[in-house]
Amino acid sequence: MRKIYWMGAAAFLTAACAPATRANVTTSAPAASQPPAPPAPSAEAKPATAEAPNPLLPEWKGPYGGVPPFSQVKVELIKPAFEEAMKRKRAEIASIADSAAAPTFENTIAALEVAGSTFDNVEVIYSVWSSTMSGPEFQALEREMEPKLAAFEDEITQNEKLFGRIEAVYASPDKAKLTPEQQRLSWRYHMRFVRAGAKLDVASKKRLSEINQRLALLFATFSQNVLADEESHAVILEQEADLAGLPDSVRASAAAAAEARGQKGKWAVINTRSSADPFLTYSSRDDLREQVWRNFVNRGDNGDAHDNNAVIAEILKLRAERATLLGYASHAHWRLEDSMAKTPERALSLMQSVWGPAVARVREEVADMQAIAKKEGAKRAIAPWDYRYYAEKVRKAKYDLDQNDVKPYLQLEKLREAMFWVAGELFGFAFSPVNDVEVYQPDVRVWEVKDKATGKHVGLWYFDPYARPGKRSGAWMNAYRPQRRFPGEVATIVSNNANFVKGAPDQPVLISWDDARTLFHEFGHALHGLSSSVTYPSLAGTSVSRDYVEFPSQLLENWLSTPEVLNRFALHYQTGKPIPPALVAKIEKTATFNQGFITVEYLAGALVDMKLHLADASSIDPRAFERDTLAALGMPQQIVMRHRTPQFLHIFGSDSYSAGYYSYLWSDTLASDAYEAFTEAKGPYDHGVAEKLSKNVFSVGDTVDPADGYRAFRGKDAGTDALMRKRGFLKRSGPKAKKS
Ligand SMILES: [Zn+2]
Repeated sequence: MRKIYWMGAAAFLTAACAPATRANVTTSAPAASQPPAPPAPSAEAKPATAEAPNPLLPEWKGPYGGVPPFSQVKVELIKPAFEEAMKRKRAEIASIADSAAAPTFENTIAALEVAGSTFDNVEVIYSVWSSTMSGPEFQALEREMEPKLAAFEDEITQNEKLFGRIEAVYASPDKAKLTPEQQRLSWRYHMRFVRAGAKLDVASKKRLSEINQRLALLFATFSQNVLADEESHAVILEQEADLAGLPDSVRASAAAAAEARGQKGKWAVINTRSSADPFLTYSSRDDLREQVWRNFVNRGDNGDAHDNNAVIAEILKLRAERATLLGYASHAHWRLEDSMAKTPERALSLMQSVWGPAVARVREEVADMQAIAKKEGAKRAIAPWDYRYYAEKVRKAKYDLDQNDVKPYLQLEKLREAMFWVAGELFGFAFSPVNDVEVYQPDVRVWEVKDKATGKHVGLWYFDPYARPGKRSGAWMNAYRPQRRFPGEVATIVSNNANFVKGAPDQPVLISWDDARTLFHEFGHALHGLSSSVTYPSLAGTSVSRDYVEFPSQLLENWLSTPEVLNRFALHYQTGKPIPPALVAKIEKTATFNQGFITVEYLAGALVDMKLHLADASSIDPRAFERDTLAALGMPQQIVMRHRTPQFLHIFGSDSYSAGYYSYLWSDTLASDAYEAFTEAKGPYDHGVAEKLSKNVFSVGDTVDPADGYRAFRGKDAGTDALMRKRGFLKRSGPKAKKS
């Protein structure tokens, strides 16, 4: 199974991602997408160790309980390492499944937690290369390995003897004697196997495998089609007049993009979000904005060789068939069973409660924009390619905030220190840089995390901040090794990844306010991993359900704008002076600016995703479905879905966010409510609230039901009021202790 973790569900989440923990996919991955593909014969697997031992296979050596052998990785070593690792894991699984001893928790569930450690380690290397060190050679390997890995996953979940033992442990009256964590782990394994079809008859299992295998291929095709349309369709700007309105930074990157395409002296707007959005924000050329916008929103929808509509229709049909085979009313019902929302109806109900107020806000935003457009002599109504352009003008007019005034105070390294300081205040962590571990790229740096009070080692934090060729865009967190106490105590290793542009060697890297929020967001995922205190690795850290995992990360974004952080760490890169309070006040005032647009472009996608996966899939025309669904919702004509259906990689690039794009809103409901626990008390640094948060949310991983964990922290369930207040859809009421 290919786990892809997306950043950027919506701008209000800044670059919200989900943390990647490929390492424990095969031993647990409760919230993961389902394993595709049938058992593969291993006849072609050759021993990798014919000449020299493969350096990727031994247990991780070195300090801190062993670290990944990054300096020894060569792409050609990965396939033989995988083949040998699969062989070992296959043998370990067989010894559990074929055991003559009566099934017990220890000899079955606990044994599964230990099985496959070599495989997990090789998978970490593979996933780091996939996301940060990719290139033609690695991509070829990926195309070859993905179906094999999927088949291997199926081979384990369809092992009847193994499932028989899991079921025996799960159904045994002795289960009551286990610890609560052991009981939940047994339930997790049982549910995961059942949800993957372990109880089906032979014919259904075979069909399920065929479906999964076909889906794996369709996911890859879908992703490659989007990529192909992003790599073509660049808009080349030939002359100075085409650059009207663009700030220097946008001009410079457009010039570099053109040069990279062999068009030195011209400017190129690449058909990707990072290139298109700034152009749409600043270009004063209506005609070029429209052209750039049309190219971007039509990715995968051009009626050519890379058109995704037929691919989508087939994916939907296969998903519906699989859900029926597994006994569910729809793909959405199957996916949401293992989520905090539990049912599509609950997710829909949350989305619908926010939709109306968000659309109402869009009308106000459009009115503001239309007024400015009229003043400037525009003769037509605001079009979708105008939204970003006029929104920026409204921002300046209404709030007098120029993003370029903020940047000099936002130095990447100072903000990293700020995050460390916040982690110290909230979780009692201390960070110190280390130089005795291997990295895969010279820009990657590593810190040891310790408990401030006891000095105990907590884990390692790898930081890979800069963009480079072969690195996926966006920002994300990755767990190289989950924390565990079984079979022995092992500390976690986590990483944060971003795509900042590296400056000159002696110059500080200055980032935008949104990027600073992203930094805090990803660090929230890292702290979720570092805080973990559980026994079994597959329940550790961020291995919680999809609609809960973005809660800790979105929550942590709030600490960026606290005065404690800004006064200490938002220092001007030349004068060293802290950011002026007047500027902070302007930033705070714009907190709810453009939330109508941001919420609607996200929610439209989340609603279409859910409705696509609830609909009768026998003959869906994706283009018509999207059009009709949006019309029925009353979609404002000035906005398109953030990801239109033919390019919606979250839901068609893999199963992982399918019927799950709502998760960001669900998690933000929790995050908004949770932050009010601080503001209702002594403020963002209230130690009592922080302690409760760590105890019931950050440290427990998946050892407790998320709803129970949340209630234990907050004393109540989260309603939507805090979310509506945060987005400015509901006026604040009552006393408010502190703001940040
Ligand atoms: Zn995230």
